[in-house]
Amino acid sequence: MFDYLVVGSGLYGAVFAHEAAKKGKKVKVIEKRNHIAGNIYTKETEGIQVHQYGAHIFHTSDKSVWEYVQQFAEFNRYTNSPIANYHGEIYNLPFNMNTFNKLWGVITPDEAKQKIEEQRSVLKGKQPENLEEQAISLVGTDIYEKLIKSYTEKQWGRACTELPSFIIKRLPVRFTYDNNYFNDIYQGIPIGGYTQIVEKMLEHPNIEVELNVDFFENRANYETVAKKIVYTGMIDQYFDYEHGVLEYRSLRFETEALNQENFQGNAVVNYTDGETPYTRIIEHKHFEFGTQEKTVITREYSKEWKQGDEPYYPVNDQKNSELYRKYYKLAQAQENVIFGGRLGLYKYFDMHQVIKAALHAVKKELKD
Ligand code: FAD
Repeated sequence: MFDYLVVGSGLYGAVFAHEAAKKGKKVKVIEKRNHIAGNIYTKETEGIQVHQYGAHIFHTSDKSVWEYVQQFAEFNRYTNSPIANYHGEIYNLPFNMNTFNKLWGVITPDEAKQKIEEQRSVLKGKQPENLEEQAISLVGTDIYEKLIKSYTEKQWGRACTELPSFIIKRLPVRFTYDNNYFNDIYQGIPIGGYTQIVEKMLEHPNIEVELNVDFFENRANYETVAKKIVYTGMIDQYFDYEHGVLEYRSLRFETEALNQENFQGNAVVNYTDGETPYTRIIEHKHFEFGTQEKTVITREYSKEWKQGDEPYYPVNDQKNSELYRKYYKLAQAQENVIFGGRLGLYKYFDMHQVIKAALHAVKKELKD
């Protein structure tokens, strides 16, 4: 008998399995996809590591997590500096002095602040009642119209005037000429891709991995193979949707290899106009400063989620949050099951947060 059955070979399951195995525990990992690594899976095409489930940039300010992950890969110096393409006009993100200079010709931070202040004043101090008003109250009309409105509408499939204001509580505005998207101290992309990280974590004599198997297709059997289960699948599915179905936003990716060296000159370009149907194009080689003859790009489309689709982003509105709380209560009552990861806890987590959470869970579990 195994000590743990880990359902899901994503980052959470892999960290848990690895740490438990190191402590002498026998672990079985099952995965319904035909590969390990969950959404951080990368696969080599044309000599380029292609991020199969959307662009993944590792960033953290937590030194212990940064040091932890270095055991499994060496990281390059990639700094995320996405750009926005609005009808062929190019702007730097996040909104910073480069963006403001391009928009208005302003040079100094004071000039930029004054411009934003003028544009925010169209709301005349009105309390924002929807996402449109919220965005204008934070950054003014020009940035909203060119860089937020249509991009957000494509992401959510609804008009900004119909979206709740809480979706954008804050909009980072930087009054320096700094295009680094993240504020974290540590940032980079693993040289050789992300899959190797999970591969190395699972490469242990105490760990057995089985791919192409869904926990729910043989649940009665899987519930008897180990003393405890670490479950990283969808929490509502675990309880057979007894309170209802939690909602997600989904994505669709279109990937193609191109017979040219450099397609867009940047890893991430967001399309912020309403006419372009996709939200962004990723050119994977720029994550690793690639010099290959060919390039691989992925167009990312936002899409309504229905049961059976790949769940990407939890919808943390009131309805779904209340539903999740019901499942959370049920989960708390399960003595031999640990719920973890983005699907098990119905929460968007960055990679560093998932690592931290899994390390915490395994430490608590093994009481060391
Ligand atoms: P997952 O990776 O989803 O792993 C869960 C695994 O469980 C999956 O492999 C699934 O197939 C398997 N599974 C589910 N149900 C079953 C079942 N019934 N039986 C067997 N197996 C099952 N984070 C960052 O830090 N930086 C980024 O730039 C970044 N970009 C992102 C971009 C996108 C588009 C998305 C969606 C996420 C991004 N993230 C990013 C977040 C990152 O993907 C997550 O933090 C991480 O993948 C979560 O790991 P996990 O183990 O919780 O979940």
